[in-house]
Amino acid sequence: MRQLLPNSLADNNFIHYWHPGLKSLYLFCKYHYFWEKRYSIKLEIPFIDIHTHHSENSDQVIAVQSLFLQDIDFSREIKFPFSAAIHPWHTDRFELKEVSHMLEKLTTQKKLLGIGETGLDKVCKADYKQQLKIFELHLDLAEAHHKPLIIHAVKSWNDLTKYFKRVKVPVILHGYSGNFILTKQLIELGCCFSIGKSVMRPTPDQEQVIQLIPLSSLFIETDESQIPIEEIYVQISRILDISLDTLKTQIHKNFNSIFID
Ligand SMILES: [Zn+2]
Repeated sequence: MRQLLPNSLADNNFIHYWHPGLKSLYLFCKYHYFWEKRYSIKLEIPFIDIHTHHSENSDQVIAVQSLFLQDIDFSREIKFPFSAAIHPWHTDRFELKEVSHMLEKLTTQKKLLGIGETGLDKVCKADYKQQLKIFELHLDLAEAHHKPLIIHAVKSWNDLTKYFKRVKVPVILHGYSGNFILTKQLIELGCCFSIGKSVMRPTPDQEQVIQLIPLSSLFIETDESQIPIEEIYVQISRILDISLDTLKTQIHKNFNSIFID
């Protein structure tokens, strides 16, 4: 698995500020970096919510909204950062051709950051073979357009890890709550982990898992929860025994290194 940006660019950590428009974001941040250096001022680093079903962009929060592909009106330009896919739960409703057609249209959207949530779910009612076929369509599209994958996984790790071994784009495991041994395996495969509301009442095992994840592979999300992203950050900074500022800086750096090109 490879990152979409060279490490040198990610390491510069000069992107400190949100601005609508991803291309202009890059230039805008470079400009701000110049002013920060010149006048020794520190601009506020936003919270990143990597996966949410609510709209919560503000001066303080960059939220990547997760949309269901079938709900998108392709005649309009989506104005906020988002990811989209056919959710594994909905895969039974669509023919493969139909999904391919929608996915191709999706790539014309400029604010598309990632492909997801997509994945495999052995507990839901949708036919598993159909889930596999549609997951592969998403994977092909992500690779063809250099977009990270945002993964929904339920009791499907054996199958998913086979894909993770060969996939050429970053993989973010959303709503992650795996055990210690699984986490070790997934770290070796280069996966990123997005932690959500389950961390608000963590078991000692879960705390250990969060401490195991490399900081450079960590993301934070609200998903469907109404808990403010800030509160989830505070809880994770407590578990990691690092300051909120250090955590914000790191997650922002992770976001830039994977999503901004
Ligand atoms: Zn979700």
